[in-house]
Amino acid sequence: MKKSSILPLLALTLAVAGCKSAHETTPTPRAAEPISFDDYFYDKTMRLDFYHCGDSLNEMYFFDELKQEPYFAGSHVSLTDSFNYGTQRFVLVDEASGKEIYSYHYCTLWDEWRCEPEASSVPTGMPESVVFPYPKHNAVAQIWSRLSVTETKKRGLKHQPWEKKFEYPIRTDNPFVRAFSPVYEVQDLHVAGATQHCLDIVLLPEGYTENEKDRFLDDCRLFISEFFRFEPWTSNQNRVNIRMVWAPSKESGVSIPSENKWFATNMKIAYDTFNSNRYQMTRDFQAVRDIAGHAPYDYIYVLTNSDKYGGGGIYNFYGIGAGHDRFGSSGAVHVHEFGHQMLGLGDEYVEIGNNISEQYQPGVEPYEANLTTLTDISSKPWAKEKAEPDSIFGESFAEGGGYLEHGVWRPYENCLMRALAYPFCPTCLKAVTDYLEYICR
Ligand SMILES: [Zn+2]
Repeated sequence: MKKSSILPLLALTLAVAGCKSAHETTPTPRAAEPISFDDYFYDKTMRLDFYHCGDSLNEMYFFDELKQEPYFAGSHVSLTDSFNYGTQRFVLVDEASGKEIYSYHYCTLWDEWRCEPEASSVPTGMPESVVFPYPKHNAVAQIWSRLSVTETKKRGLKHQPWEKKFEYPIRTDNPFVRAFSPVYEVQDLHVAGATQHCLDIVLLPEGYTENEKDRFLDDCRLFISEFFRFEPWTSNQNRVNIRMVWAPSKESGVSIPSENKWFATNMKIAYDTFNSNRYQMTRDFQAVRDIAGHAPYDYIYVLTNSDKYGGGGIYNFYGIGAGHDRFGSSGAVHVHEFGHQMLGLGDEYVEIGNNISEQYQPGVEPYEANLTTLTDISSKPWAKEKAEPDSIFGESFAEGGGYLEHGVWRPYENCLMRALAYPFCPTCLKAVTDYLEYICR
């Protein structure tokens, strides 16, 4: 099962991934020359809303709506993704030239749901969206998905191939692109520089009422102090912007279905996702985007008004953590979840006795930078050459990861993606740093 959820508290294990692998077969050619942002885009965002639907075997997309958002926080230079992480790939193709002018990769909650037992008998749909710089010319938006690991194995392939699932024409004369109407206050919390050259994080409140703004601000400050306690963030404070959007909820608290606790909150976030007590998520990503769009952002992180251990983070989607948990572990959890969210790093921890996985199978190499099944170690340099044992991270190249005891290997014995007590291992740190360079160009 694919889980980007938070690690078990007692196991205190975490996972990070971040390798470049170049096995993608993308039929759309990237522009031979570097793409000039100003030739193709306005400095604001277009958002494409849709429903991601299906069951364990089928995947479909249904168009919902196009929207404008006021800010585009991304790099004006790094416009096409070459990291090849994640399970979904968004591509914008310029209609006149047929070239790929913008792309990024991500994962979704729906991807995880489709590995749940329920998905073999019940189809479901979740509201999702993608965002991209606002096109100046007619273009085509495409969404690609990776073939499932099981199907990839059946076909005798080492890497999950991409399949195009959805296309939508973007017309510059389309009058039905909904305008943006701001309703919430935005506050700068740590602003270091121009959005296009910085990593921009927006913090959103869930389950804080109108009179709990100070509490939310305290939780934001905790996030910021913990975030900058970990490398590579400590030495990159001058390349990170953090803002918050003050969007109060009607009721105070976060829903916990297993305890029959329900609250009227903005984004309908709840614990118990996929029956995991600590996994906080929402099915409604569009509700998250509606609030986030008030500020410039590359990454969305939600603080929930809760003292119960838990969170979750999905690659280029969103991250969630309890604002102030009883064990005081909120800070490290935030950084762990951010590792999932920024890079799609794999969890390096193991669930004892678990030896079966839809996500990791011998014969198929994981896309995550920090996990290998030894199927194609050319894409994982750390698996080829064992590093010297490290005083903090222990032996290099250890068996166990991706929730499995056997058949999956991780770069080091210890890492933040395995246990909250550690920083990122050297492999994960490099992956995060490489990605930061890409975002800040
Ligand atoms: Zn690691």
